[in-house]
This record gives sequence, structure tokens and C-alpha cells, in this order.
Amino acid sequence: MDSASRDTTSYVTAHRALATEAVHAGRDDLARQGLHAPPIDLSTTYPSYDSRGEAARIDAFAETGAEPDGPPVYGRLGNPTVARFETALARLEGTQAAVAFASGMAALSAVLLVRSALGLRHVVAVRPLYGCSDHLLTAGLLGSEVTWTDPAGITDALRPDTGLVMVESPANPTLAELDLRAVAHACGSVPLLADNTFATPVLQRPAEQGARLVLHSATKYLGGHGDVMAGVVACDEELAGRLRQVRFATGGVLHPLAGYLLLRGLATLPVRVRAASANAAELARRLAADPRVARVHYPRIGGAMIAFEVYGDPHQVIGGVRLVTPAVSLGSVDSLIQHPASISHRVVDAEDRRGAGVSDRLLRLSVGLEDVEDLWDDLDRALGERSGGTRRTALPASVGEA
Ligand SMILES: *Cc1c(COP(=O)(O)O)cnc(C)c1O
Repeated sequence: MDSASRDTTSYVTAHRALATEAVHAGRDDLARQGLHAPPIDLSTTYPSYDSRGEAARIDAFAETGAEPDGPPVYGRLGNPTVARFETALARLEGTQAAVAFASGMAALSAVLLVRSALGLRHVVAVRPLYGCSDHLLTAGLLGSEVTWTDPAGITDALRPDTGLVMVESPANPTLAELDLRAVAHACGSVPLLADNTFATPVLQRPAEQGARLVLHSATKYLGGHGDVMAGVVACDEELAGRLRQVRFATGGVLHPLAGYLLLRGLATLPVRVRAASANAAELARRLAADPRVARVHYPRIGGAMIAFEVYGDPHQVIGGVRLVTPAVSLGSVDSLIQHPASISHRVVDAEDRRGAGVSDRLLRLSVGLEDVEDLWDDLDRALGERSGGTRRTALPASVGEA
């Protein structure tokens, strides 16, 4: 097992800048092994002629959830290729560890199970969250109970059985931002989970601001090419151990090929996020100055996501794009646009959705790496006629604002 790639305290890896970590973290042992590209280990099981030794290793894992030294015993217990991605992401987020899952929702599910296993079933959360995260909490599918509040209400919402406070900043899909340091303070001793999918560690490192758990849908920017589904939680080693135990018990593991692609994606993460953000900032500026656009939401910290409300029918914009792909998801090298009230946040009750600022006229644009003039030409055409567009047209009743 490539334990060298996990050595997050090694002097070799101390004090390296983010751009350097992005290309080197999780790969520190390769040159010594005579390799350049990371190997992909597809093993589901690992041979051992010492079953007493295996028993001891399994007992140790059951106690702390620390990754066993040596080969992982069985694929659900760990995988060296996935571990490289975990090491690298932990370095980028500035945490002791990271634990990868089959999707962002599998990662969030594991966090909820870790806390409810301790009898801490109550969650305090701030809207908006990604639609399925909202749904998972609201429906109580994993036995949790949620209190929705605004940031100022967090402390009052805490109960003896509160196991988690959950926020997103910038939030999906409105790009609303929170003061994570203040939120972390309001949580007291209850762990704060910050979903950092939109910002990525390139723009924001929530652990430095007091979040104990940093969640990513790695399907988005970390993978970055629209071809990997994954989730990851960056946190301290104690919580990581519990998350590995839940992952082992419930099986939401990441496939090693996905681990390989994610590590490869991380190498270009800073470059991709900065270039796409520059495109997005320019498009946000043009949209804000456009008479067909009622409102533009673009985060103070920047990023490659834009939310905007049109005066006309948002469905016509979705139907009108040619270069931008009308599709849910985000964070790929190519631009995507979607209508949250119809897709990403459809599972959220309409009243709750509108109350969280997700209007029926809101569009969410994930800006990619195309030439910004080509992107603008496409949006400009999709937005339709300029003349007469400033009057707010009525939406069909099914999509109209209540
Ligand atoms: C997509 C997304 C998720 C869910 O991740 P999956 O990989 O689709 O399971 C969670 N949070 C945010 C902010 C997302 O955008």
C-alpha cells in the first residue's frame, strides 16, 4: 500500500501553495516507486497468508476507523487509488483527512448516519441547500429531524440532540453567501458541515473558518469534466474514522477509476476555477447591464456560477441555447444552464423553495472554459428580442410565482 502518499505531515509536503498541492498531493511516493502517473488498483480483495494479523487489523478498524496499514483487506475497506484522491483533497482543504464516496449524496448520508448513530438525530440547516440535500433532511429519510433557520437563528435552534449544523456558501442555486466564521461560532460545540461544492478550496477553505466537515459533490468542479460521479468529506481524523466505518458498513464506496479521474481533475482545479471564474465575472457584468435580465446573483468571492432572473419566460432561454448545454449539474469544462424550479430544486416544496429565494424565473448558469464572446453570443440569442423585453411577461400558471 502506498502509505507514503498519505503522509500528510511529511516535511516534503509542508507549506506548499495550493497550485503545487493540486498537482503533487497524493503523488509524493510515485517517483520513488519509479512511476509517473498514479497506478490504478482495481482489486476487490487483497491476499494475506496471516489471518491472525488480518483479525487484528479488522479489530483496529472497528475501533477507530483508521485506515489499516498495508493492503486494505477488502475493497469496501479502502482502495489505494481512491486514497490518493482523499490525501490530495485533504491537503487542498487543509484538513487532516478526507473520505470519498460514490456521490455527494452518499457522502452527506454517511455524515447523517455517523451523527445519528450517536443518538444525535437533530439537524439545524439554513436554506437554500442543494435540492436533494434539502429533500433528504426534510423527508427524514435517514431518521433525522431538521429545523430550518436563518444564520441568526442557529444558536437558538440548537438542542441537546443536535448532531449537525448544515450550510452551503455560496448556496445552490441562489449563490447566497454566509459568513462561515460567524456561523461556526454560532454552532458552539456542534459540528458545522459546510458544502463547499460551489466555491472549491481554490476560492474558500471552510475548515480554516471553523467548519468541522467540508462536503463536496466531487461530481462537479473536483472532477471537472462531467464524467465522474463522486462525493467527499474533508474533516479531522476522528470524524474520518467514523465516516470510513459507515462507508464500510453501508457500501457507498467510490470506484477506483473514479478515484483516478478525480486525482487527475484536481491537478487542473485551480487553473480551471480561475479561468471559468473570469468568464463568469464578465458574463455576470453583461447580464446585470442587460434590460432583459431582472436580477443577477454573483458571489463576492467570485466563482464560475451565475444565477439570474429574466423578465421573460425562463423556459424559452433554456430552449434557446445552442453552445451552452441545457442540463442539470455544474462545474464541467463546458457551460451548462438549468431552471432550478423545474429540475435541481424540483423536489423542494414550492413554498419552501420560493421562501429560500429560488424564484420561478431563476436560471442557474455554470460557466465553462469556452471563449467568453462565444458564450455571450449564445446567451444573447437565447434571451430573445431586446425590444419589449423589459416588461414582465406572465408565466403560465404551472410555473408562475404564487
Ligand atoms: C450536486 C450537489 C450535491 C449532490 O452531489 P451528487 O454528486 O450529485 O450526489 C450536493 N451539494 C451540492 C451543492 C451540489 O451541487
